[in-house]
Amino acid sequence: MAQQLAYIFIEQSFSDRAYPYLVPSEFSELLSVGSRVLVLFGKGERKKERLGFVKAIVEEGSESPLGEILDVFDDGKPALSPVLMRLAEWVADYYIAYPTEAIMAALPAAMRIRPKETVVLCEFALLAPDEKIVKTELRRNIMQVLLREKKLTVKQLERRVGSKHLRLALSELSRIGLIEVKKTFVQKGKPKLKPLFFLQQEFSQDTQAELSASLKRSAKQRQVLEKIFALNRQKFFADEIGATPKSLQPLVSKGILAMEVVETTTPFADGFVEVQKQIAYTAEQQQAISKVQQAILSQSFRTFLLHGITGSGKTWIYIEAIRKALELGKTAIVLVPEISLTPQTASRFRAHFGDSVRVLHSAMNDSEKFEAWQSLKQGKAKIALGARSAVFAPLENVGLIVVDEEHESTYKQYDTAPRYHARDVAIMRAKFENAVCLLGSATPSIESYYNATTGKYELLTLSKRADGATPPEIKLIWLSREKKISPSISETLFFEIQKRLEKNEQVILFQNRRGYAGSVQCNSCGTIYTCPACQVTMVFHLKENHLRCHYCGRTEDAPKTCKTCGSPELLYKSSGTEKIEQELQRLFPNEKILRMDLDTTGKKGSHAKFLREFQEGNARILLGTQMVAKGLDFPNVTLVGVILADIGLSLPDFRASERLYSLLLQVAGRAGRAQKKGDVYLQVLNFQNEVFRYVLQNDYTHFFEYEKNIRQMVGYPPFVRLTKIEFSGKSESEVSAGAKGFRELLEDVLNKEQFELLGPVPAVIAKLKHNFRYQLLIKQKHGARLAKQVVRTVEYQFRQRIPTSKVKVEIDVDTQSMM
Ligand code: ADP
Ligand code: ZN
Ligand code: ZN
Repeated sequence: MAQQLAYIFIEQSFSDRAYPYLVPSEFSELLSVGSRVLVLFGKGERKKERLGFVKAIVEEGSESPLGEILDVFDDGKPALSPVLMRLAEWVADYYIAYPTEAIMAALPAAMRIRPKETVVLCEFALLAPDEKIVKTELRRNIMQVLLREKKLTVKQLERRVGSKHLRLALSELSRIGLIEVKKTFVQKGKPKLKPLFFLQQEFSQDTQAELSASLKRSAKQRQVLEKIFALNRQKFFADEIGATPKSLQPLVSKGILAMEVVETTTPFADGFVEVQKQIAYTAEQQQAISKVQQAILSQSFRTFLLHGITGSGKTWIYIEAIRKALELGKTAIVLVPEISLTPQTASRFRAHFGDSVRVLHSAMNDSEKFEAWQSLKQGKAKIALGARSAVFAPLENVGLIVVDEEHESTYKQYDTAPRYHARDVAIMRAKFENAVCLLGSATPSIESYYNATTGKYELLTLSKRADGATPPEIKLIWLSREKKISPSISETLFFEIQKRLEKNEQVILFQNRRGYAGSVQCNSCGTIYTCPACQVTMVFHLKENHLRCHYCGRTEDAPKTCKTCGSPELLYKSSGTEKIEQELQRLFPNEKILRMDLDTTGKKGSHAKFLREFQEGNARILLGTQMVAKGLDFPNVTLVGVILADIGLSLPDFRASERLYSLLLQVAGRAGRAQKKGDVYLQVLNFQNEVFRYVLQNDYTHFFEYEKNIRQMVGYPPFVRLTKIEFSGKSESEVSAGAKGFRELLEDVLNKEQFELLGPVPAVIAKLKHNFRYQLLIKQKHGARLAKQVVRTVEYQFRQRIPTSKVKVEIDVDTQSMM
């Protein structure tokens, strides 16, 4: 008789293969693609029970099986839908990872590991264990053990009755109601206690007004109350209305509010409330909405790039698109770069779609994540909103995937395999789902905009602000010509700050944190030292006293005087917000200056505290790094100053200009958000740099043309694909020799027309946690793709000589990180 075979991806098999296993007849009705199973895998001593995922089931296999499937989880209900299985396989293949690594990335922790579960006997079973139901020997054994011991973990049960078919038997017994199987989660840390406030009674519009009027004498309390009413919710946390628990006490004393202390683990509280106003869409918005909605209606795969300046109303396009998808009975995924930095976005989606939205938040604990995952999988919620991994949300029938701020590099997973780019996975998923993918950005990545110009994506443009605010005016201050009033502050910037303070307006000063990767710059003329071949910044190495290109390895002696102007004032850089703070304090002795950087915001909650202080106007100058660049919306800020706008330019990364352009426009967007017009001053050394010209004009398309030409000339994405292979280990000579050996193996198998190898060279951060790091770049030209099979063959040969314990090899396809 023919025997069913299931092909199974096995956890920790370190293999790309799916292995054949016999399907016992008891399981044949239950199993399908994506089911979680338990199998024995390994040789001899190392044979172990492993978690596996069914890739395929065949009625008659020709291969001889490795054994029998021991058990099935979840009654065989697939952990991943067929589309998600296919997506995981694509991810594993494209990003050169093991299939189980991709599958695990798509699952919440509770489904990855074998979670701790306890089995308890139901009371009813104590009275009358029905002989007929408990007919098999295994079930009888389980019941006997449980009658004796009442409560056991699954592990303990395994030891007593064996693991074979155990899960299935447990799930059947629990279905009948004899036992209960509970997942137990290890709580990370103690649950936090937090005061929850609620309104003592419901207030109508009229009574609301009355109440406000009765608080005539306390403007503060009235303001707070108005915010509470705007929330339109009975219960809330103080930070949801930007208040402290203490400041709400008077309202509690007056009997308007009541308070109780509750345990919280999911801070959905985000400190922002927006009153939902009625709006009429602009013509541009209408056009974009109608195009996207039509595409959703047609239910065929399509990718849009929504290029809209800050404040052009992109969020509304997302909302209308989601509305359409839901109308058709479909579901939607919204990806945001970092959920904690986009509280406004999250709260807006909640305001529109209420409980249909599930937020997948990295701050959630395992149990909350599992709960959210389940409610999406069961169709209770229709919209998944989250960062990178939300692209694998277990929704069925997806009609739309939104990728907000698609240019953000946080979409790329760089630390563990699979090193996937969530934007590109989103596009692939949309393809598999016959769905629409909507990418949005004020400053699209060069890759995406290029795809829009070639017709691969369809471009939608919002060129005007929708909220009626005037875009801020951006001006340059040329540091080498201007008089400085302190080492970092020019006279012009000083007077501009003073002007705002006189009007009691607020100022944000920004200092780029990234970009201090040991570059050298002339303080007189702004010259940056770049590699003539690779056009990226060279990095200074103190020990060898030379500059080195981290792409191709070229070195030059460290200069003593500037090669352009001869000045001896060369800047070997280090970050300096603290120093700037001191300068500012001297210039404005009576001002309270808020400094926000990694040093000052290390303590939990201090981030929010700073912002609140600024929001409440307790300080008028906010000095900060990247933290102040994103998502802040303070209507009283009328001036943004960038202390040294060149900094990002000197990063040894070919995306330096692109990232700087995007960052500066983002920072600039902090000025003049409301009715007051804002100004932005950039202090620069490289006055003539093209990037600033385009920033000044807020002219993305010309910036794109400029940047595209450079990429084409030198050969960077989107014109080539770029894969980084990183080697690391304790001994520098072994790592360096290993990397060279790997290169030689690759050279033997790669076609030189299509593949260019750069390096190996020490990584920019050459030593990390006592490990030496070298990197090798592979440029893939003419659309060539680095085949997984080829890399695996080379890895195999490499491993014959060098073990993982000596040299670790990590592959990063379409790398976003050149450091
Ligand atoms: P973006 O995401 O493109 O920066 P948002 O979607 O955040 O822009 O919109 C910016 C502001 O403009 C929001 O307060 C939004 O409610 C408002 N807005 C958007 N569209 C309109 C419109 N058609 N009329 C009035 N206000 C609008
Ligand atoms: Zn070079
Ligand atoms: Zn110079």
